[in-house]
Amino acid sequence: MTCNELGGACDMVFEANTFEEIAKLSKKHGTEMFQKGDKPHLAAMNKMMELMKTPGAIKAWMDGKRKEFDALPDF
Ligand SMILES: [Zn+2]
Repeated sequence: MTCNELGGACDMVFEANTFEEIAKLSKKHGTEMFQKGDKPHLAAMNKMMELMKTPGAIKAWMDGKRKEFDALPDF
């Protein structure tokens, strides 16, 4: 899955066997871009922060992404 598909802001591709792993990779990448002060990623992160203010919203979002991940064919 790409950074974009995981709520990020670029086309960087993450590959992992489990959703937990891919979530970890995307979070690490997001943190790196955040430290670089990359504007599109900062905006994407702000959006996630907004989502976190709504109880259950993040869980619903994660469940949706997990389904997308599970629907992908294995490489
Ligand atoms: Zn990215």
